[in-house]
Amino acid sequence: MTSLLQARGIEVRYGESEAVRGLSLAVGPGQIVTVLGPNGAGKTSLLKALMGALPCRGEIRFDGEPIHRLSLEERAEIGLSLVPEERALFGEMSVADNLELGGFLRRHEDARTRREAREEIYRLFPRLRERAGQLASTLSGGERQMLALGRALLARPRLLMLDEPSLGLAPRIVREILDAIAGLRDRGMSLLLVEQNARAALRIADYGYVIERGAVAMEGSAADLRDNPAVAATYLGGS
Ligand code: ATP
Repeated sequence: MTSLLQARGIEVRYGESEAVRGLSLAVGPGQIVTVLGPNGAGKTSLLKALMGALPCRGEIRFDGEPIHRLSLEERAEIGLSLVPEERALFGEMSVADNLELGGFLRRHEDARTRREAREEIYRLFPRLRERAGQLASTLSGGERQMLALGRALLARPRLLMLDEPSLGLAPRIVREILDAIAGLRDRGMSLLLVEQNARAALRIADYGYVIERGAVAMEGSAADLRDNPAVAATYLGGS
């Protein structure tokens, strides 16, 4: 299968320290690929490098085309999107206005198409419709993640990269968010999902990479990783 995203030999440095060391990965069309690993393994640095928010070495191809030299804005224009761990919402703006910003890349479309896109987000997360007029800063953690996801989706990305969407959320909300993510894949979207919650991520992912100290330690289908005793011992512990 041809990959939608193909990264080879990615290296990210912060001065003398190397956060990502020659890492390669691929995301196929309509796949959820998860990147698992402990704190400080380099997961966030990897996503930022792929998005163009951090300089890196190596080769990145999107739909077969090299994108290494493209800026973050140019990568967004061709269909990459990153929901960062800190969600990056505008706290003093309403839910509806935050969503509006997500449609910025689609500003050339007519009002009706944009309205329909917004309706689709409200169908996916009915809670956002209920809270459309509320300030983003007053949302719960789960609602904030839904808003961040909804805002990213309004740009209709082809590859959505998510940095720890389950972070700090109650198990029931984690399930709701991950089910929504699986639903996006079922509608053909490609997703790269960084998670520390390996159990939750492997439940919905098709393929996974375990990274340690900036390099791939293990990779395989989500089913194989779930059944792998080394993964189970380190990442699926007790819970
Ligand atoms: P976590 O799960 O804790 O978010 P991570 O796997 O996402 O971790 P990164 O945030 O990519 O890991 O960090 C990888 C390494 O790079 C860590 O050792 C971290 O301390 C270091 N690092 C990250 N950002 C910077 C920075 N701006 N300057 C210097 N070092 C950094």
